[in-house]
Amino acid sequence: ALVLPTAAIMLQDQEAHAAEMERTFIAIKPDGVQRGLISEIVSRFERKGFKLVAIKIVIPSKDFAEKHYHDLKERPFFNGLCDFLSSGPVVAMVWEGEGVIKYGRKLIGATDPQKSEPGTIRGDLAVVVGRNIIHGSDGPETAKDEINLWFKPEELVSYTSNAEKWVYG
Ligand code: ADP
Repeated sequence: ALVLPTAAIMLQDQEAHAAEMERTFIAIKPDGVQRGLISEIVSRFERKGFKLVAIKIVIPSKDFAEKHYHDLKERPFFNGLCDFLSSGPVVAMVWEGEGVIKYGRKLIGATDPQKSEPGTIRGDLAVVVGRNIIHGSDGPETAKDEINLWFKPEELVSYTSNAEKWVYG
């Protein structure tokens, strides 16, 4: 009873792995889409070793944009920001991986592209705060809320990527 067959051990490992995997919501805003930066941005998350579990392209309504940014409704730029987010196609994604929420923010860089380090998405690809091309959840609670706002549960795909054993060992 102490010796589990290899398949059972692998299954246990996979389950343990899956249980600790976190997910974050990432969106390429209308400026990123219009500037042809979808593949560039997807590629940075993909090459890092994170796993794409949901993706779609949508034009959010103003009302939906206001829901997404509800935390910022007292800010002077709120209305312009929501107009902008609903002004064209947005690529909405869910990425999965160890530490993906925090590290996703690192890949994205500071809110103001003038303050983003070179090597980050905003540092390399954007110039002003009002056109900073990408959104990423800033913590576990917002990640959960934003994934639920943008995606139905059945739009999230659970799968084992072939690369996982090479990314995580
Ligand atoms: P982040 O997107 O880095 O999490 P915030 O949640 O503070 O940053 O702001 C949300 C978005 O609002 C920013 O990505 C940016 O597009 C916009 N924004 C933030 N500050 C300003 C500002 N001072 N003027 C115009 N737009 C802003």
